[in-house]
Amino acid sequence: MPVVEQDSFQIIRRTGTKRRSWRCSLVCAPRQSIYDRSGNIHVDRHTRGWGWRIPLPGKFSCGIVVNPKHLAQFGDDPETQYDNFIKDEPALKVFTEGSTRLTPVVKYTNYQLISEKMYGPGWAMVGDAAGFIDPIFSTGLYLSMKGAFELFKAIESDQANAMQKYEDGRHWELKMWQGVIESWYNGRLFSLYRADKNKKAIR
Ligand SMILES: Cc1cc2nc3c(=O)[nH]c(=O)nc-3n(C[C@H](O)[C@H](O)[C@H](O)COP(=O)(O)OP(=O)(O)OC[C@H]3O[C@@H](n4cnc5c(N)ncnc54)[C@H](O)[C@@H]3O)c2cc1C
Repeated sequence: MPVVEQDSFQIIRRTGTKRRSWRCSLVCAPRQSIYDRSGNIHVDRHTRGWGWRIPLPGKFSCGIVVNPKHLAQFGDDPETQYDNFIKDEPALKVFTEGSTRLTPVVKYTNYQLISEKMYGPGWAMVGDAAGFIDPIFSTGLYLSMKGAFELFKAIESDQANAMQKYEDGRHWELKMWQGVIESWYNGRLFSLYRADKNKKAIR
């Protein structure tokens, strides 16, 4: 969340990530899944896109990340698209058959944002406000907490450029993670698993 100390807040320019703008995410909480080992976060590969199932008390968070063009065939509004998608998707229906949707469906499109400027006189940004990237590796909490520690160090530091270093460090880390995420989507990460069997795969 943003840390704002004075009323010197200024317009923050944020950069989206064009190459991912085709993805959207639908999220809601159906009643308990048949497979809900508490503490385990499940990531499923779907026929198109991917999704998560996160057990919560009495329900679970079930999200799908998919090309909106593909979703269009499932209905005109997010609720209908979601309900029809989970009924149709073989990797999901085994877990969701007979479950009731407990919440409205929330739709996010192009949710990735990296703030160009993360600090100014009397204010600084940390966590999602500083940057949020594709959640495939659940980096949100890690990046938020790491950012908070780094911001604390910068505020405590005597160095004149400490806040600039904080901002540069956040940009570096967010972009580095985007590279890892890109390698997941384009298949290079999976090639690494096979690198010992086929050395060409890591090129
Ligand atoms: C559906 C979903 C699933 C996720 N799953 C995971 C996961 O499995 N693993 C993971 O690492 N991350 C996950 N994330 C991402 C993670 O939740 C966020 O990256 C993280 O919580 C960001 O922390 P934050 O402190 O920046 O923001 P937040 O946790 O959003 O905290 C911001 C706080 O500020 C408050 N607030 C907002 N406006 C005001 C205001 N004007 N005045 C006062 N308070 C205000 C809000 O109420 C909120 O409490 C998920 C996110 C979503 C939406």
